[in-house]
This record gives sequence, structure tokens and C-alpha cells, in this order.
Amino acid sequence: MPAVLTLNSGSSSIKFAVYVPGSGGLDEIASGQVDALGPAAKLILKTRDEKTSTEIGEADHVAGLRAVLNALRPVLGETHIAGVGHRIVHGGTKYAEPIRLDETLLEELDELSHLAPLHQPPNLTGVRAAMTAFPDAIQVGCFDTGFHRGHPFENDTYALPKRFYEEGIRRYGFHGLSYDYVSGYVEEHHPDLKDARIIIAHLGNGCSMCCVKGRAPIASTLGFSSMDGLPMGTRCGQLDPGVVFHLMAQGMTADEVHMLLIKEAGLKGMSGISNDMRELLASDSPDAANALSYYVSRIRREIGSLTAANGGLDALVFTGGIGENAWQIRERVCEGMAFFGIAIDPAANEANREIISTGRTKVLVVNTNEQLVIARAIVNLL
Ligand code: ADP
Repeated sequence: MPAVLTLNSGSSSIKFAVYVPGSGGLDEIASGQVDALGPAAKLILKTRDEKTSTEIGEADHVAGLRAVLNALRPVLGETHIAGVGHRIVHGGTKYAEPIRLDETLLEELDELSHLAPLHQPPNLTGVRAAMTAFPDAIQVGCFDTGFHRGHPFENDTYALPKRFYEEGIRRYGFHGLSYDYVSGYVEEHHPDLKDARIIIAHLGNGCSMCCVKGRAPIASTLGFSSMDGLPMGTRCGQLDPGVVFHLMAQGMTADEVHMLLIKEAGLKGMSGISNDMRELLASDSPDAANALSYYVSRIRREIGSLTAANGGLDALVFTGGIGENAWQIRERVCEGMAFFGIAIDPAANEANREIISTGRTKVLVVNTNEQLVIARAIVNLL
């Protein structure tokens, strides 16, 4: 029985998971990550029996993947890896569905790097490294923008002259693999929500919200880049473009402003403490409190906006590290939202139960699984 490997290659880490066919579809047999790619990389491997952490020394993406392969050998036994699937942030206007990757396609995807300069290059480095480390496996790309390509025009465009839309200045939206998984999970496990008007809040280090009708995408808070909408761990979220021009007129370069907005803003920038929600919830600093108030307020405003875009609201789903665990944030988001049919049971919420609502609008907590979406795509293409 062949196995499939899923990879999420960032600039300094590679997250992976291995699946084999099982009774319920695909079973994860191992997962982990290579952290701190560079002079002192580390491999964390979780199997059904244990979790190990190994220093692997100097490692780039290729060496990191070789270390993964070596560590997986005893887990895999006679099983070989038949397909490797990659999370790729941007498919542009052309690529939405999972696709088999080859060098020609990689060159085309390289040309989209200016649309996602922090993520696309390391994603593609990961693909090339996997082609070297797993030469006999097929390589499959799954796009984070793909899910949103079906948005209606008004949720896909900006109010710019038409030629900019045609040149690709669009609202791409991201976190698509998570939305694909969560909307599929809701369809499977909550048949009462078939074709329902659902808002999904993906709250992790990156944060966004989208609304769907059943599984059909309608609108997303993220647009052209991964900076719009909600404040995130280190990204600013919604910002008047006038601020950018003002800062540049004050002497900051375009690169400095870019770095400010993606690395030094958001929860980290506002609190001056951390981008980690756990630290902010535990802090008694007034700046941390302000950062959390702003965070919650933006989520609540987007619930209003997405409800209007979708013509009503039947369910609100929380996912991502914060959405799945930070009950205090869910409580504050849902507080006083009876006008949207939202009411939650405090005990169910605090226990991170799947159904936490008591009102007309179903409120769910669903653990996302982007790797499984990629694994299923590999199996389909195999
Ligand atoms: P990524 O976007 O990198 O995949 P995650 O989805 O893992 O990130 O989310 C990371 C965020 O989730 C961090 O802000 C972290 O503090 C938060 N988080 C994780 N566990 C908890 C928890 N038990 N309580 C509150 N926040 C949590």
C-alpha cells in the first residue's frame, strides 16, 4: 500500500504529515516539522507511539526533507511514498484545483511570487526539494487561493479601472485549504446545514473569515495580499492605504512599510508583548487588553459584513489555533449578538465542544486539517 506525504514549506520550517489508506479513508501515521532551517535545524517527528526531537545540524529544504525521509523509514517499512502534496499559497487567476507539478508549471508559479513574496518562494523551494528527495513520487500542488476563485465578481474585485482587474489585481483570499476542510466537515457532520449560509473564522497566526453557501465560496476578508481584514499575529489587517503613503512621505521605504505591516503589526505590534494569543490572554498589560479588544471588535464587524454579503446567517464556525482553543475570544465575539441569532452555552464554550450554541444560529468549533485536504488531493490525482 503506498503512502502519501503532505508538505507545508515555509521560509524557515517544513511541516509534514504521512497518510496511508485506512478504514475511514486516509489514516495519518506520522507528522511533524523541520524547524529552524539553516545552521541548526531540528526535526520533530510524531508517530502513533512517540514524539521525538532530533538536532539535524546544517540543513536547507533538501537536507531537511532527506532527514524527514530517513526518520520516516522505520515508520514506513515496506511502504513507499507514491505522492507528495504541497501547500502553495498562490495559484493566481489560472490555478484553483489541485494539479500535478512539473518544472514548467513551477516556472509559471514562480512568476506569481510577487503576489505573495513571503510565502510563494519557500513553497516552491519545498516542491523542488521534494522532487530531489522523492524522485519517484508524483508532486501535487494545492492552492490556498483556489477555494475562493468562485467568488461572485463584486467580492473578487476592487474599485479600480477594469484593466487592473484584468491584470490580476483581485481579491484572491487565502486559507482556502482550511475553508475547504471545514466546509466539507460541516456538510458531512451537520446535515441540517446543507446549503446553509455559514461564516467560517480561521483564527491562527494568520487570521481571516469567509462566508459560504453550503460549500460555495461567497466572500473573504482577505484580498489581494495576506494583509487585509482581521488583525493577525504580526499583520495589520484592514488599513487605509493613505497610511502607507503618509509613512512613505515621512521617509520610510516601501520595504520598511511592508515589513512593518506584515512583521511588526497586528497583535504583536499593538500589545508590544507577543503575537501569541496565550500570552496576551494571560497578560494584565493594558496594551494587551487593547490589542484583544481591537481583535474581537474586527471579528464582530466582519460577521456583520459577511452576513450581509451572504444574505443571512445560519452558522458561525471557529477554527485555527485561536478559534479552536481560545474560548475567551469566542465568548467575547458572540457576546450581545442575539440580533444575529447567536447565543452560546458558557460551559460548552469553555470545554471547546463542537456545538456551543443555544440560539437559532449554530455556533461550532471545528479543528481544521489542511494536511488532510492535500492528502486527499494526492490520492485523487494518483
Ligand atoms: P498557524 O497559522 O501558524 O497554523 P495556529 O493555527 O497554530 O497557527 O494558531 C496559532 C495561534 O493559536 C497562536 O496565537 C496561539 O497562541 C493560539 N493558541 C494555540 N493554543 C491556544 C490555547 N490553548 N489558548 C489560546 N490560544 C491558543
